[in-house]
Amino acid sequence: MTLLAALRQAVGAAQVLTEGDLSAYELDWRRRWRGRALAVVRPGSTAEVAAVVRACAAHDTPIVAQGGNTSLVGGGVPDGSGTQVLLSLQRLQRVRAIDAANLTLTAEAGCVLQSLQDAARAQGLLLPLSLAAEGSCTLGGNLATNAGGTQVLRWGNARELCLGLEVVTAQGEVWSGLTGLRKDNTGYDLRDLYIGSEGTLGLITAATMKLAPLPAATITALAACASLADAVTLLGLARARLGDGLTGFEVMGRCALDLVARHFAALPQPLPQAPWTVLLECSSSEGEAHARARVEAMLAAGLESGGVADAVVAASLAQSQALWRLRESIPLAQAAEGLNIKHDIALPVSAIPDFCTATDAALQRRFPGVRLVNFGHLGDGNLHYNVQAPAGADGARFLAEHEAAVNKLVFDAVAAAGGSFSAEHGIGALKRDELAARKSPVALQLMRAIKAALDPQGLFNPGRVL
Ligand code: FAD
Ligand code: ZN
Repeated sequence: MTLLAALRQAVGAAQVLTEGDLSAYELDWRRRWRGRALAVVRPGSTAEVAAVVRACAAHDTPIVAQGGNTSLVGGGVPDGSGTQVLLSLQRLQRVRAIDAANLTLTAEAGCVLQSLQDAARAQGLLLPLSLAAEGSCTLGGNLATNAGGTQVLRWGNARELCLGLEVVTAQGEVWSGLTGLRKDNTGYDLRDLYIGSEGTLGLITAATMKLAPLPAATITALAACASLADAVTLLGLARARLGDGLTGFEVMGRCALDLVARHFAALPQPLPQAPWTVLLECSSSEGEAHARARVEAMLAAGLESGGVADAVVAASLAQSQALWRLRESIPLAQAAEGLNIKHDIALPVSAIPDFCTATDAALQRRFPGVRLVNFGHLGDGNLHYNVQAPAGADGARFLAEHEAAVNKLVFDAVAAAGGSFSAEHGIGALKRDELAARKSPVALQLMRAIKAALDPQGLFNPGRVL
C-alpha cells in the first residue's frame, strides 16, 4: 500500500489533504517559513494519531506535528521538500475531565488554550496559563514548547502546571501517563522529557493540568517609569507589598507602544509619554476592595520614592482588558510594521537594566537608526528584545543584510550576562544553529542520546532543535 493510501485508511480520506490552499498549515505565523507538505493529515483521536505514526514509520516518512501554528521559531511547519507529513492535532478537541476537588483538568492536545481557560472558569476554577496567542494556540503546542506567558511569575511555565501526559511514541505506541498526582516518584520523569521537546521526541495527544481557585478579584494597573532600573525597583516593591497576589508584571518600552499607537490607533494609551510602562496585575481571594487598596498603597509608595512617575489603576473589567490589549498588541503591531528580528532572552532581573543600556548603545553604534522594540515579562527576567529596521527602511532587506550580525551581538551580550538566548519560544528551525554553537558539548551529547533512544528512525520533526 502507498503511504497516502495507508494514511487515508488511518484517518479517512477527507482528513488527508494534498491539494488546494494549504497555507494555514504550511506558512508560519511570522510568514518567514513557507514549507510544502507531502500531505496534511488530521487525525481525530489518539488511536488515529498512533496509526498515522505507524504508517509513516513503515514508509520512513518524517512527521511534523502542529497545533495552532503560532510558533515564533518556525517549529511547526514542514520544510520545503514536499516529503514530510504535516500532522495537525487540531481535531483532538475533547475536554476529558475536570476534577474540581483534585484541581485538575484533562484535555486533548488540540484544545485551544482559551477554550480550556473558559471551561475551567465555568466551574469557578482558573487554568493559570495565559499568552497573547491563547485564542489560537493549543494545549499540545503549549506543552511541546513549555510555553511561558504573562502569569509565570506566580504560576510557572506550562511545565509547572502539567501533571500528566498521553503521548504517541515514534513506534506508534501510546504512553498513557495521564495522572492528576502531585507526587509520583516512580522512575525517570518521562513527562518532563516530552515537555519542551518541540515535537522531536513524541506526539502529545492529551494532558492533565493543574487548576487553582478563581481569584475573587483581579486588579490591573499601569505605572510609568523613567528607566528600566526604576521598573526593576518597582518589581521589588510589588513583590514585597503584594506577595503571592502579584500575578503579572510586564514591561513595555516606548518604541513598542509607539508601534501599537500607529497600528492600533483606537487603543487608548493612558501614559503616552512614559519611557517605560509597567503593566501589573494583582489577584486576591478577598475581593476587589482589598486588592484595589493594596495596589493603590503600593503605587503610592512608588510615587513617593520617585521610582514611579505616574500611574493609573483600571476602574472596570473593560478598562483592565484594554490595558492588557496594549501589551498583547505589541507582537501584532510589530508584524504589521514589517519583518523584524526577535530575541526572546532571559537574564537575571538584576542584570537587565545594565544589559539593555550597553546592548542598545552597541546596536546603535553598529546599525544606526535601528528601532529597539523591547518589552516582555520583566517579572520573569524575560525580555522580547526585538530589533526592527530603521524607520522607513525595508524590513526584509535589513534582515537579509544584518540579521546574523545583530543576533551575534545580542546573543554574545546575553551569554556574557549569564542569560539564555531562548527563554520561552524554543529552538525550532530558527535557533538550531545557535543551540549547536552555544550549548555545552556535554549537554548536546545527552540530548542527541535521548533523541536516538526515543526516535531512532528520526521520524519526528527532523532538522528542528538538534
Ligand atoms: P505550534 O506552533 O503548532 O507548534 C509549536 C511546536 O510544538 C512545534 O515544534 C510543533 O511541532 C510542536 N507541537 C505542536 N503541537 C504538538 C503536539 N501535540 N505534540 C508534540 N509536538 C507538538 N510563547 C510563550 O511561551 N509565551 C508567550 O507569551 C507567547 N506569546 C505569543 C504571542 C503571539 C502573538 C504568538 C503568535 C505566539 C506567542 N508565543 C508565546 C509562541 C508559541 O510558542 C505559543 O503561542 C504556543 O505555545 C504554541 O502553540 P501552538 O499550538 O500554536 O503550537
Ligand atoms: Zn512572551
